[in-house]
Parts: sequence; structure tokens; C-alpha cells
Amino acid sequence: MTKTPNKSTIERDVVVIGAGPAGLMAAYTLKKAGRSVAVVEARHRVGGRTWNGKVKDHAGVEHFIEIGGQWISPDQTRLIALVEELGLATFQRYREGKSVYRSPDGERHIYSGEDLPTSEKTLAESKKLIALMNQVTAEVGAQEPWAAQRAKELDEISFRSWLEQHSDDTEAIDNVSIYVASGMLTKPARTFSALQAALMAASAGSFDNLVDEDFILDRRVVGGMQSVSLELAQRIGDEDIFLGQPARTLHWATPDPSTADDLNAVPADVRNGVKNNGAAGDVLVETDDLAIKARNVVLAVPPNLYSRIQYVPPLPREQHIAHQHISMGLVIKVHAIYDRPFWREEGLSGTCFGGGHLVQELYDNTNVIATESGPQEEEYGTLVGFVSDVFAEEMWALDEESRKERILQEIASYLGEKAKEPIAFYLSDMAAEEWTRGAYATSYDLGGLSRWGHLQNQPTGPIYYACSDIAAEGYQHVDGAIRQGEKAAQRILEQA
Ligand SMILES: Cc1cc2nc3c(=O)[nH]c(=O)nc-3n(C[C@H](O)[C@H](O)[C@H](O)COP(=O)(O)OP(=O)(O)OC[C@H]3O[C@@H](n4cnc5c(N)ncnc54)[C@H](O)[C@@H]3O)c2cc1C
Repeated sequence: MTKTPNKSTIERDVVVIGAGPAGLMAAYTLKKAGRSVAVVEARHRVGGRTWNGKVKDHAGVEHFIEIGGQWISPDQTRLIALVEELGLATFQRYREGKSVYRSPDGERHIYSGEDLPTSEKTLAESKKLIALMNQVTAEVGAQEPWAAQRAKELDEISFRSWLEQHSDDTEAIDNVSIYVASGMLTKPARTFSALQAALMAASAGSFDNLVDEDFILDRRVVGGMQSVSLELAQRIGDEDIFLGQPARTLHWATPDPSTADDLNAVPADVRNGVKNNGAAGDVLVETDDLAIKARNVVLAVPPNLYSRIQYVPPLPREQHIAHQHISMGLVIKVHAIYDRPFWREEGLSGTCFGGGHLVQELYDNTNVIATESGPQEEEYGTLVGFVSDVFAEEMWALDEESRKERILQEIASYLGEKAKEPIAFYLSDMAAEEWTRGAYATSYDLGGLSRWGHLQNQPTGPIYYACSDIAAEGYQHVDGAIRQGEKAAQRILEQA
């Protein structure tokens, strides 16, 4: 193993690559158990896809926004317990009043209760599809969807085609597909499988839970979800977290010369597999300024970024292939801030749905902030909306002003003309972030989950993988990231 000269060399028990919630939870757990750690992070901040941000209004006043992940649902028990342990407060999403539904013809309907105000036939078809998805979800489960009896069959059909197999009601299909496609995986329903959709639902407990916005988008952290990472980082300590240090090279095993193909001069590699996967080894992680020696690595970055690191020797061939079948979704998170939550004056909750429209979901995202007399709701009203997959591409093709105008026009078609007059407006764009490259998270292409999913949590030599995107419970969510970080740390501790 060599190292580039002029880098500071440090030694730790474990190197963690990535200071998002998964990596920080791994480091926190290891450090509590008496292990030494170094966390290297590409960005100049911790938190990854969670990010407490700001936007200025016309008068120069700064407003708090959550650029990345924010909501917690009641099934996310590991995150809830951690939030409590870290001394953070939470508050419930505002949900009083009626909701708005836009039908495919663009007409606005005001409704209350759980059922969208569609025709009786569409409602019955939607309920049928939801019941069927509940069954498939229970059958597949979150732990090993690739091992389910019908895994291959469900992975060969796109979610859209699967819905179409069971219904001919386009409005019902559009509405039911929202909950997984534009709403969660942020990919068109034709590009991922029914198995992948079932995993998404199983990771939240059931398809019924996904459909219930009051369950899935229940609470937020006062001060923002990034506070979880900031608090973890504080407990780990600045001396062990190295910001602005992308891992460039990961030396993880000594190449075995006996596997080389001398005849064709193919360099030695791990084509015949690795022995003792998970055991400690000799690891060297290099960033631009550091060389860190350790016994194990936790690779806590989203799978679409694994290949940004050079592995020495190269990763086993099945990992090379598997990683190419998992990609980021695409969604723009829209923040519109108003002088007051005007929709409440009309008895509206701010919750809006419209399958097939540019903005398919919209919520009241008014902040509750910490004050001397405890958490208090701000006087400003904030709406958060989402522009997903192909609609996001459409928006990026426009110039900034036309994009804003188009999105506000859409919000106004749910909540009235006043929606066109925000005092501040911001679009979250994680697709443009080099160290994320999309939103919210990654998922497999058609057929990928049943072929490659079994590998995603198997260690490679001394490398453990940890990320929300390869979680079972809390898949694609901060809860899943926390579970993954903790699990990787526990597995390292168990085998030592
Ligand atoms: C717009 C948006 C909205 C979301 N909404 C919600 C929500 O409401 N609720 C919810 O629970 N979840 C939500 N999520 C998802 C949630 O934010 C993620 O699931 C979570 O942050 C994943 O944590 P992680 O640690 O696994 O990965 P990340 O948060 O992506 O952290 C990975 C870290 O690795 C770093 N990194 C990458 N490559 C390298 C390298 N080579 N060397 C060093 N560091 C590297 C990155 O910079 C990053 O800091 C949302 C995400 C987005 C983008």
C-alpha cells in the first residue's frame, strides 16, 4: 500500500466517508463504544441531504427554509428516539381545514376527509389499487424484497404497467402512482418496478401509510432536520470530522497475485471474490490533504456516488455492475413564503393534490421557531410544493423568471391569485450538487432490485455500506440513514 507524500497521516480504528445522517450516526455509535473515528466529508458542512437554509425576501429579511429532508412519520421510531436523545423538539405539520384537489381537467375541488373528491368509479378503482398494493407490500416486506416469492415477476413489470393491469381508470392510476412515483422515488412510474414500489411502501409500514399525508408528513424538527446532524457532529467532536475532504482513493485489500491473468497481462484483481468479508483489514483512505489508516471503513454516501472513489484494488465485479443499476430521482422542492398563511383565512389547510399536474402536491410548511418562551409558529406563511421527474426537467429548461411564474401559476390554481405574490421564493436543487446529484434518493432501475439488491448491505472486505438509500425501514428517509449508520457501527463492533 502506498500513499502520496505531503499529506498529513492519521490513524483511527474506523474511517467514515460522508457526514450525512448515516455517516455521523455510525461515527457517534463507534465513538460511544470507545473506538476512534475519522469522518471525511466532501462538502464544507455536515448533514448531506438535510440542510437548514435561508432565503431573503423583498425587504431583505431572511427566512428559514429546509432545503433538504424535513418530515418525520410515526413509524420512524429510531429517528424519533434519537431526536429526543439529542434534546431536539418537534412540531406537527399544520393540517386544519379543507384540502384542494385538481382533477385531470384542471378543475379545483375543495374537500375534507381522506378520500379525493373524484367520481365514484374512480374512487372505487383507487381503493381497489390501494388494497392490492397493501397486499403486495405485505407479501414483499422491507427486509429482503429480492427474496420474496414473486420478486422476479414483480420486478419485471413497471409500476405504471402493473397499475394498468389492474385498472383502466387513468385518473385512479395517476392518483395512486403519485404516492410512490412523483411523491417518493421521484421517477416516472414507467421507469421502476412494482417490486421497487412495494419496497417503498413496506419501508413505511404499508401502502396505506404512504397514502396518508398526515402520517407520512407528520412532524418536523424545530430548527430543522439538519440539527440532527449538527448535534451528532458536536458530540463526535471537530477534531474527528474533516470537512471539504472528498475521499478520492480507498485502499482496502492487498491484490492477490494468484488471481492475475498472466497470459493476457490482466492486472490482479478480486474477480474470484473476497474472503472474510466484514473482517477488519488494512485500510487507507486518501483525500486531497489527508491519508487516514484504519481497520474498517463505513462508506456512507449515496450509491450513485460510489464510483466517484477509486478503489484499490477495484471492487468485486458484481459490485461494479450492481452500482450501475441504482440512480437518483429528480425533484424540485419549491418554497414560497407569504406575509401570512392566507389560505387558512379561507378554511384551507394548504394541503393540495393533483395527479398528472406540474405541482402534484402542496403543503403548509409554516415554520415553528425556538423563542425564549418556547417553540412558536412564525407569522409568515410558507408553502412547500414538489415538481417531480419529467416536470422538473421541463422547469430546468426555462429561464429563472419563467420557471417561477409557471410554478406560481400552478400554486395559484390550487390556492387562488394571492399565491402569485410570495415575498420570497426558492427552489431546492440537489441535482446541481456535485455530492448528491438528484433528489430525494436512489432506487433501482427495472429488474435491478431483484438481481442486485441482495448485495447492497454485504460488506466488501473491511468496507461497510450505510445510507438511507439501502435501508429497509425508513428507506430513502433520515430514519433509514440513522438505522443504517448504527447498524454498520454495530456490525463492526460485533466482529472485533
Ligand atoms: C429535497 C429533499 C427532500 C427530502 N425530504 C425528506 C423528508 O421530508 N424526510 C426524510 O426523512 N427524508 C427526506 N429526504 C431524504 C433524506 O434527506 C436522506 O434520506 C438522508 O439525508 C440520507 O442520509 P445519508 O447520510 O444516507 O446520505 P446523505 O444525506 O446524502 O449524506 C451523504 C454525505 O456523503 C458526502 N459524500 C459524498 N461523496 C463523498 C466522498 N467521496 N467523500 C466524502 N464525502 C462524500 C455528501 O456530501 C453527504 O454529506 C429528502 C431529501 C431531499 C434531497
